[in-house]
Amino acid sequence: MIKRILVTGGAGFLGSHICERLVDEGHDVICLDNFFTSQKTNVSHLLDFPNFELIRHDITLPIHLEVDQIYNMACPAAPGHYQYNPIKTIKTSVLGSINMLGIAKRCGARILQASTSEIYGDPEVHPQPESYRGSVNPIGPRACYDEGKRVAETLFMDYHRSNRVDVRIVRIFNTYGPRMHPYDGRVVSNFIRQAIGGEPITIFGEGDQTRSFCYRDDLVDAILAMMNGPDDFIGPVNIGNQGEFTIRQLAELVIELSGSSSELVRKPLPPDDPTRRQPDITLARERLGWEPQVSLREGLAKTIEWFQSIRLADYRPPTPNYS
Ligand code: NAD
Ligand code: UDP
Repeated sequence: MIKRILVTGGAGFLGSHICERLVDEGHDVICLDNFFTSQKTNVSHLLDFPNFELIRHDITLPIHLEVDQIYNMACPAAPGHYQYNPIKTIKTSVLGSINMLGIAKRCGARILQASTSEIYGDPEVHPQPESYRGSVNPIGPRACYDEGKRVAETLFMDYHRSNRVDVRIVRIFNTYGPRMHPYDGRVVSNFIRQAIGGEPITIFGEGDQTRSFCYRDDLVDAILAMMNGPDDFIGPVNIGNQGEFTIRQLAELVIELSGSSSELVRKPLPPDDPTRRQPDITLARERLGWEPQVSLREGLAKTIEWFQSIRLADYRPPTPNYS
């Protein structure tokens, strides 16, 4: 059945792919974005579709819309972006969630929150299951994002318990792919941009910290499955790829796949940088029947190809922390 669907942060990396899928499925899609970390070009190919609408709006401010489903993706996600204006980042997670939950309550809409593995902080439990409550430094430079997202989860659960709002929470682990902002400062975008530009590849710290990288198509499959999944499964659910790599291994793979001759250089490790991260996806497997399909090698090759096809000059200047 055709639905009216709101995607906040819909012009961003993940949001734009969600919009694309939903437009393809024939839904009436409203993409709402303030373009803080994205640009219209991510969705310009959708503008001529009669079932797609683009609104420039900031979710920290109220808005009245009539919809059946909401994907709440709006929030700067890269450390350089979310630390650029940390107070605004918290407002986006907290006031933004309250505003979107208000729409869901009024319309009886189902609402999905893009939460994050960052709510586990620098984890003492490995891999991280949903039951792990995390180890976040509440006063560090990452806290605006981590604690903002933790409060957002709290708000979602309280609106669910107090007002019976139909919520879904997904905890997304590092996801990459075409349409990442080339200057967002995240490790995959930095390494690929540096490798194809012949610049030194910047390893923060020893490079033995780990991440588990999920390709965007797998992620979008899981998010759509969660939104349209069983009525009694609200999450939180971990979504990510279990393949765990050190940052140094990632750099070596990017160099190999791009045929680059870039050298590796060391930079200081940012404060509170999590030492290791790997999702336990047992719950997603059991309840959504979902399993990532794309290996890091395959996903990186596609992402490198996309980075080679874009003009960096078309992207707005980097934020100060992009490295
Ligand atoms: P992104 O920066 O490309 O997308 C975020 C979008 O939200 C951008 O288009 C930005 O302009 C918009 N936005 C930011 N603040 C806004 C506001 N106040 N009002 C309206 N729009 C606003 O990042 P992404 O990687 O696509 O992340 C999307 C969501 O998924 C975020 O909520 C992020 O926290 C979450 N997430 C992503 C990852 C990942 O690895 N990509 C991991 C965990 C969680
Ligand atoms: N990182 C790095 N070089 C870079 C950018 C990031 O070594 O140019 C490291 C960073 O210190 C972290 C990991 O890569 O350990 C992932 O960083 P990212 O910002 O992509 O995501 P997050 O830390 O939020 O998982």
